[in-house]
Amino acid sequence: MSDGAGTIVCPLCGARYSESDGRTCHSGCPLQHGCQLLSCPNCGYEVPASTRMTRWLGRWFGKQEASE
Ligand SMILES: [Zn+2]
Repeated sequence: MSDGAGTIVCPLCGARYSESDGRTCHSGCPLQHGCQLLSCPNCGYEVPASTRMTRWLGRWFGKQEASE
């Protein structure tokens, strides 16, 4: 249910934000070097960034229609 590459929909509050926004919000993370979490700018809920691996996993688990 993504609207395209880089758009995150927060599962908690439903806010939409880009990956870059999530990373900016996460700039204080001590693990930011390689940290794969994005923080929702609205509520702070952290979600894993949709890396190539998670996209691949999403396809593996049944979203074969994903075209990219
Ligand atoms: Zn949120």
